[in-house]
Amino acid sequence: MIKEPIFFEPIFKERIWGGEQLKQFGYEIPYKQTGECWAFAAHENGQSVVKGGQFQGLTLGALWEQHRELFGGVDGDRFPLLTKILDANDDLSVQVHPDDEYARVHENDLGKTECWYIIDCEEGAEIIYGHHAKTRQEFETMVREGKWTDLLRKVPVKPGDFYFVPSGTIHAIGKGIMILETQQNSDTTYRVYDYDRRDAEGNLRELHIKKSIEVTTIPANEAKVDPVMKKIGDLVEITYVESNYFTVHKWALNGVAHLDNRDKFQLISVISGQGTLEKEGNEFAYQKGEHFLLPAWFGKFTLSGNAELIVSHL
Ligand code: ZN
Repeated sequence: MIKEPIFFEPIFKERIWGGEQLKQFGYEIPYKQTGECWAFAAHENGQSVVKGGQFQGLTLGALWEQHRELFGGVDGDRFPLLTKILDANDDLSVQVHPDDEYARVHENDLGKTECWYIIDCEEGAEIIYGHHAKTRQEFETMVREGKWTDLLRKVPVKPGDFYFVPSGTIHAIGKGIMILETQQNSDTTYRVYDYDRRDAEGNLRELHIKKSIEVTTIPANEAKVDPVMKKIGDLVEITYVESNYFTVHKWALNGVAHLDNRDKFQLISVISGQGTLEKEGNEFAYQKGEHFLLPAWFGKFTLSGNAELIVSHL
C-alpha cells in the first residue's frame, strides 16, 4: 500500500488569450501568454509527471497503465479526468462540447462535461453561460445572423463561485478570470464565435457552426449548483457537484482535520495557503500551486495548515 501522497509537476500551454498571472502560484511559466496549467493530465497533448517518491518521473498516463491499483482498479483505457488552472487575460472563444454519444460517433472521442471554480477575477468580470434561444430554429437564425448580444447569456462572477458546465452548454470564460477547471479527459471543442478576432497572419480561427447547432442544449439548461457544507474537525468541506463524471469539493482548512480516504482516488490542488499531510508518522509539506494524488485506499491521514484545496474524484 502506498503511504505517500503523489505530487505532480504541472505543464504549461501557450494560448493567445493567456497571460502571466499563473506566476502567483509560484510557477516559472514559460510564455508571456501562458493560458493553461495542466495539473493532472494524461492526454496526448500533455502529461503531468510525478515529481518525487517511488514513482518519480512516471507520467500520469503511465501510472494509470501500470499501477491501476492506485486508482481503485477503475476500468478504462484512458485516465478519465483532466484538471487545469486557466488564466484568461482576454476573452476565450464561445464554445460548446458534445456529449459522449455524439463525440463517439463524430470524433471517436469522449464528450466533455466540465466545471469551474473561480479562483480570482477582476472587478466586473463575466462569463458566458447558456443562451436565450427557445428553439433550435431560433438558435440557428441568431447564430447565422450574428446576434450575439441577444443570444448569449452573460453572468457576472466573483471569487469562490462555482459553475457546472454539462456537455451541450454554450460557454466562454471572460477576460480577467482565473479558474480551476475539472473536466472529462477530452479535447473536442466546437467553436461558435470568436469575436471576429484575427491572428497575426490576419486569419480568423476556425468555427464549427453546424456541429455547435447540433449539440447545443436548447432551451438552455442551467445546471444550478447548490453547495453542501460539512465540517470535519477544522476543515469545512464544500461539495459543489456530484455528477456521473466527477465530484468536486473545496476543502477550506484552518487547523487540523483527521480524514480517511477509502475506495476512491482523489486529485487535490492547493489553491491557497500551505500545510502538512501526516500519514503514519511521516509528514509531507504542501503549498499553494502544488497538486497531489491520494491513491484509493490511502486510509487515515491528518491534514493541517491554513489552506484551500480543490478536491476531485470519480
Ligand atoms: Zn469548454
